[in-house]
Amino acid sequence: MLDSNTITTIKATIPVLESGGVAITEHFYRRLFSHNPELLNIFNSSHQHSGGQQVALFNAIAAYAKHIETPEALQSAVERIAHKHTSFNIQPAQYDIVGHHLLETLQELLGDAFTPEIRDAWTKAYQFLASIFIAKEGELYQTRASAQGGWKGTRTFIVQSKQKESELVTSFVVAPKDGDPVIDFQPGQYIGVKVKPTVDGYAQIRQYSLSAAPNGATYRISVKRESGEQPGLVSNYLHDHVQEGDALELMAPAGDFVLHEERSRPTVLISAGVGLTPMMSMLERLSAADDDAPIHYLHACENGAQHSFKHRLGDLLGMKKNLSAHVWYREPRSEDQLDHDYQAQGLMDIPSVAATLPLAQARFYLCGPTPFMAMAKKQLLSCGVDAERIHYEVFGPHSDL
Ligand code: FAD
Repeated sequence: MLDSNTITTIKATIPVLESGGVAITEHFYRRLFSHNPELLNIFNSSHQHSGGQQVALFNAIAAYAKHIETPEALQSAVERIAHKHTSFNIQPAQYDIVGHHLLETLQELLGDAFTPEIRDAWTKAYQFLASIFIAKEGELYQTRASAQGGWKGTRTFIVQSKQKESELVTSFVVAPKDGDPVIDFQPGQYIGVKVKPTVDGYAQIRQYSLSAAPNGATYRISVKRESGEQPGLVSNYLHDHVQEGDALELMAPAGDFVLHEERSRPTVLISAGVGLTPMMSMLERLSAADDDAPIHYLHACENGAQHSFKHRLGDLLGMKKNLSAHVWYREPRSEDQLDHDYQAQGLMDIPSVAATLPLAQARFYLCGPTPFMAMAKKQLLSCGVDAERIHYEVFGPHSDL
């Protein structure tokens, strides 16, 4: 635990840190990458451009500083971040590098105001926080390395099949090159994929949710092509350059957004766009279970051309009497069939189907763009669902809904 002097000093410096805001983290990243360019193999370079990473790091520091007396208040954030770190294969020595550049950044920006006493307090506080993450991540690495089919660091997988699921989404089924089994995962979890998509030689790591149920032998991911002004580095590389027979480096499954497998409790899965990937894994698992608790699936997408896994959903609906689905197309094409392909036009409107949902008992799982999830959560709360039964995953740096 931290001593009371350290806590008092840290609390007194929070306003300075907050007034420095994003400038502090921008300075920090510039410093970090100029001294330790090898870390460009880990940090997402696109997030550096968009500012997402800067905001994520600053939020983490500010949240930590505010809760310094009650670190247990940050427990779920620590759990989530530690899982994410393991998907990047973050190592203890990297905490020393980051800590060094953070302290030097504060020194450079705050000058004399960053007195030896304040520096000492921040050194202790950083080391304390780092030790919490290092311990948690060590535990996760150890558990995965020692489980049947588990591994530590990266493992080489071969693409067994590459299949288009819709206009924008393509699935990759991968099996380990060594031919050994793979560790089971909990539906909802993701893997870290490490590739070298550019000629500058730096690796890029991205997370992809596992989109099929665990089977002990292969994993499936389903990747949306990110186009736009600046095409997404890894998703386009996977779509355009990775073919059947090619190798990919994978980190073991991670993530705290997982299906709570509670017998006879109803489940409501809610997704938009490519946010359906963890839902497909959950849906497959729930559909295979010997349990007739109701399963409801609500999904929203642009139209039939962008509706991934439409046929698989149709098959599951035909097989499972306890499964029902409601799909919204924002702008259906003339060939999309109302009732058959989709049930409503426009944006998802949960209150319009609330009467069919087990609002008082079910767990609700959300995944999709953050504004979509914020809207869905708001609608669920307005229908009387308790916040504790709403779980969600953000496909990028975490933000609260
Ligand atoms: P990036 O290169 O990282 O770019 C991201 C965005 O920034 C793009 O929209 C790009 O246009 C924009 N951009 C890039 N460079 C610049 C620049 N210089 N200036 C301005 N804008 C720029 N994705 C899936 O498709 N399927 C999944 O199942 C899935 N699961 C995920 C699970 C988790 C837990 C997380 C965290 C993410 C998941 N993602 C998933 C998202 C995935 O990890 C990637 O973020 C996504 O594929 C985009 O990566 P990219 O390298 O193609 O794009």
